[in-house]
Amino acid sequence: MNKSLRIFAPATVANLSCGFDVLGCCLDTVGDEMVVSLTPDPEVTITKIEGANLPLESHKNVAGVATKALLKKYNKEVGVNIEIYKNIKAGSGIGSSAASSAGAVWAVNRLLNSPFTNHELISFAMEGEKLASGNAHADNVAPALLGGFTLVRSYEPLDVIKLHTPEDLMVTVIHPQIEVKTSDSRSVIKHRVSLKKAIQQWGNVGGFIAGLYTNNYQLIGRSLEDVIIEPLRSILIPEFDAVKETALSKGALGCGISGSGPSIFALSKGEKTANLVAEAIRDVYSKTGLEFDIHVSKINNQGIKILS
Ligand code: ADP
Repeated sequence: MNKSLRIFAPATVANLSCGFDVLGCCLDTVGDEMVVSLTPDPEVTITKIEGANLPLESHKNVAGVATKALLKKYNKEVGVNIEIYKNIKAGSGIGSSAASSAGAVWAVNRLLNSPFTNHELISFAMEGEKLASGNAHADNVAPALLGGFTLVRSYEPLDVIKLHTPEDLMVTVIHPQIEVKTSDSRSVIKHRVSLKKAIQQWGNVGGFIAGLYTNNYQLIGRSLEDVIIEPLRSILIPEFDAVKETALSKGALGCGISGSGPSIFALSKGEKTANLVAEAIRDVYSKTGLEFDIHVSKINNQGIKILS
């Protein structure tokens, strides 16, 4: 039995415009590394974090909290040590906390010879999300654990479905390095939705999923519309409208806020268009004087991967 694993814990894009708190997808070229080991002492320890200033105390770090949730259910005395090598900046809106929560429980489960399915791991990883944002949402941890696109059909009871991924779909993400607190981006949301908007939104969710299953890129594109959250949240993101307009003019299928922002994502058909979109939005952001990162990635249909 392996006593230690080095894994790739991927970044994820949640919401995908129309699917607030229910849709998400997994990225392939952006993510953290983690080394997770079984130890003789029945404790959860975090001995190393590189690339970010995050707590080493296991009860304050999402990786520790998610691991403890798994071990509680496993109900045998096991010790775990975690090292985290961060590439995804915390608060970026591309699932930084989810990568750590999902990565930790996935690796521990493997080291214990997989007593839980990947679907069962989602609820443990959600405990980490609860620590990060006060809300145990699954729209980042589910795609990290299952890969591809995922739908949270229901939270109570938890029912998560892995969806079909069309071969040529690519994601372009821009992360403006400004801080938008998850709590702030949640506070601008209204808790009442008009029936007219709800009808538009669930039509789009259905259209998006139909588009994934029929490889209908145009349908995917016109379903990437958010009439409920985006109009309220986009004001927190500098140049959001200009980025979206530019991405669409360069051939992106759709463009919206990644998670709770400030990252903005665009979906495109094919790498060429995804790169064109990246270059064009780079030009838009270069003029702002703000620091930013841009990522181009295919959809990662596997999710978390073992590196060694
Ligand atoms: P993101 O959408 O990028 O995941 P969140 O705002 O949801 O960002 O989560 C980031 C918050 O979680 C920060 O407050 C951070 O301090 C906290 N946190 C705790 N442990 C971790 C971890 N291992 N990785 C990332 N964030 C963590």
